[in-house]
Amino acid sequence: MAFENIRHNVAKILEEIPESVELVAAAKTRTPEEIQEAIAAGVGTIGENYVQEAARAFGIIGRDVKWHFIGHLQKNKVKKAVEVFDLIETVDSASIAEEIDKRSRAINKIMPVLIEVNSGREPQKHGVFPEDVRKLVEAVAVLPNIKIKGLMTMGPFSGNPEDARPYFVETRKTFGRIKALGLCNVEMDTLSMGMTNSYHVAIEEGANVIRVGTKIFGER
Ligand SMILES: *Cc1c(COP(=O)(O)O)cnc(C)c1O
Repeated sequence: MAFENIRHNVAKILEEIPESVELVAAAKTRTPEEIQEAIAAGVGTIGENYVQEAARAFGIIGRDVKWHFIGHLQKNKVKKAVEVFDLIETVDSASIAEEIDKRSRAINKIMPVLIEVNSGREPQKHGVFPEDVRKLVEAVAVLPNIKIKGLMTMGPFSGNPEDARPYFVETRKTFGRIKALGLCNVEMDTLSMGMTNSYHVAIEEGANVIRVGTKIFGER
């Protein structure tokens, strides 16, 4: 997409959303130049699905922005991931959390993470079912080099944003229940929900992080 359009798209989204909501530019398949254009227009956080792609963009852009990992994390990529990312949004098993903890300890870092919720209970999707979130949170909370900051969900894809609402509601309720437990080492201040076609609904339902790709950069 032409650079002027990226600027225009970002400006429009930033105008629409409350200041308390963090816009993450979901950058998969985009060039570092496109990402830099979004940053120039006011994006403060880049979301990356692939560690390798992220490391390349990070090498060019650096720490002027925050970097969120929003893809599915493989164990052999954790070492690199904990070096690059400010937040890993997609923790969905105790074993990946243990690896993140171990690799973070090696570089003296406390890694902020979100737990990914499979709110649509879709077999092909990553994330834990809402009823299993508490158990995973309790297992991850004991790891000294991880800090749980909240929850992330995708929800089932649909052309109609209203279809996403029940999944966002359920994730927000799960978020509230975990927060109310007041667990040690669990902060619960971040709720990442909503993409290009659903971020308005997500914000209405309590998201304070939205992840937008297509509406910033155009169709992939
Ligand atoms: C690609 C992606 C997005 C953004 O999707 P769009 O529909 O292009 O806005 C958000 N979250 C995750 C996890 C993604 O992989």
